[in-house]
Amino acid sequence: METLEALRHYVRFLREHEGLREVRLSPAALHGLELIGAGASRSVAGSVPGTLLRGATSAPVAAPRVSGKGAVIPTAPRFEETITVSGATKAEQLAHLGERASGCVKCPHLAARRTHVVFGVGNPEARIMFVGEAPGEEEDQQGEPFVGRAGQLLTKMITAMGLDRSEVYIANILKCRPDMPLGSSGNRKPTGEEMDTCLPYLRAQIDVIQPQAMIALGGTAVEGLLGPVGGITKLRGKFLEYRGIPLMPTFHPSYLLRNASNTEKRKVWEDLMQVMERVNMPISEKQRGFFLAK
Ligand code: SF4
Repeated sequence: METLEALRHYVRFLREHEGLREVRLSPAALHGLELIGAGASRSVAGSVPGTLLRGATSAPVAAPRVSGKGAVIPTAPRFEETITVSGATKAEQLAHLGERASGCVKCPHLAARRTHVVFGVGNPEARIMFVGEAPGEEEDQQGEPFVGRAGQLLTKMITAMGLDRSEVYIANILKCRPDMPLGSSGNRKPTGEEMDTCLPYLRAQIDVIQPQAMIALGGTAVEGLLGPVGGITKLRGKFLEYRGIPLMPTFHPSYLLRNASNTEKRKVWEDLMQVMERVNMPISEKQRGFFLAK
């Protein structure tokens, strides 16, 4: 299953960044999949409709290209699953999208267990958009992203930037809480297939808002957007790109709750300052000194 999961991610990466509508496997590759498990290739094709075809030959697909500084280089128009959006203003378009998502049952196992679809919150005209991975228990209860302890820390981070939470936009890759076994608490990481299924909503949100910069909170958020391009420890601090928009990966606030040292806080703060500079926000001397050793 791990191999199939990796293949799904890779197909998604090719779709997003190489602009490929179809990814064809060579007979040798197909044979390899058949060896992994009966029906393996059928199962991959079924999860990525129209992108992975069996029994066809083509030139081998290129590996994802990441520059020395970590910037993913898009080389062709991207394949997009289009969600038709209506409305005259950005606010109306987001409201329309939110309505669509609120009735979504594309992941029946998640739809059956959710309390709310957690679509997103904030300013439709936001210059900066934060992207997390998925709603947790409290977000599911309240219908708003980042409202638990990690969310409160995110709000503090936004305030430190000189912004109000209502001035940015906050959304997750997944709009429904990843289900947990009955009787168990906590949260789980969304699967690649769940993220693939839900991503069109986030893409549509991004297309409507057109932020000047995005911040991916944690490795799963980066993976949801770009596929498996690397761990967050290596990726953070360097701009990537998503749909032509600068994307800064940084640690998830929950990481800072577990590792509350000034050293780790400073890393995140430096990432945020880079974003502030990118969108031409002023940075005071006081802000520049946050979390530095006295
Ligand atoms: S996670 Fe996304 S795609 Fe899946 S049911 Fe919820 S809104 Fe629909």
